[in-house]
Amino acid sequence: MDYQKIIDTIHEDLRYHDVFGEVASYIPELAKVDPKKFGMHLYKGVNENYSFGDSTEKFSIQSISKVFTLSIAMKLLGEDLWERVDVEPSGDPFNSLTQLEYESGVPRNPFINSGALVIADILVSNLKDPKKELLEFVRKISGDNAIDYDYKVAESEKSTGYRNYALVNYMKALGNIKNDVEPIVDFYFHQCSLAMSCEELAKAFMLFANNGKILGTGEKILSPTKIKRINALMQTCGFYDEAGEFSFEVGLPGKSGVGGGIVAIHPEQYSVAVWSPILNKKGNSELGMAALEKLTTMTGLSIF
Ligand code: GLN
Repeated sequence: MDYQKIIDTIHEDLRYHDVFGEVASYIPELAKVDPKKFGMHLYKGVNENYSFGDSTEKFSIQSISKVFTLSIAMKLLGEDLWERVDVEPSGDPFNSLTQLEYESGVPRNPFINSGALVIADILVSNLKDPKKELLEFVRKISGDNAIDYDYKVAESEKSTGYRNYALVNYMKALGNIKNDVEPIVDFYFHQCSLAMSCEELAKAFMLFANNGKILGTGEKILSPTKIKRINALMQTCGFYDEAGEFSFEVGLPGKSGVGGGIVAIHPEQYSVAVWSPILNKKGNSELGMAALEKLTTMTGLSIF
């Protein structure tokens, strides 16, 4: 398979494509990003890396970080975690409050904001310095010690993060939040502000394509059962109320973020990250989804 040729064709086909959505602007710092940025990186092995465009430029990974925090929470709590958060697709927008009311404050899954905020609460309870330990985890799995938070983005989201404050307060009233609101949202805004490139994200997500083994040392840091569950959640819940559409078009487990990034994995084959900041109405990168659809169609390979 000539992956570089396929990747280059995707670039050519989509770079001048009309895109009608908008860059996320409810986080003021994200509104400043150049909407024309477009990059992709596919990691298949040490000497099998394929990319185009702005694939080494860092961007705000936003909700993609929820896969990292879920991984840490699963290591800490094991199966007990599922008493605090469910594993069903929500069919609702990522920042919705409505389901929480009739489902007693238990979020539908760990990838909508309410679910990620419960995970943040768990990390605040169980880790001495959650921000530091998350950074160590991400640096370790991607083999890159330069990865860091973008403090300006974290501050910017905090200044307009009323919905996330509302979600934590509401779940606290319903008994599913243990800590004070402030340390939870502070951790959450920082995790979302992680700045990574397509190349770094593709490397980090090899953990999920490689059955729990990290690149380089091959150290196993997640069990096959945990990897199965995380990948299943990416497949069913990774794109909020567009999870069905992503599954239908692309046919791989993946996760998006409102920074315009999407990562997807083909178990035991590759990990791929794409970035284009213009979002569709569901908050997923428009060109990113199109690029991944072309990838699995042109290679003729998906998990199905
Ligand atoms: N930080 C964003 C928020 O809480 C993350 C949402 C996303 O990427 N879908 O709204």
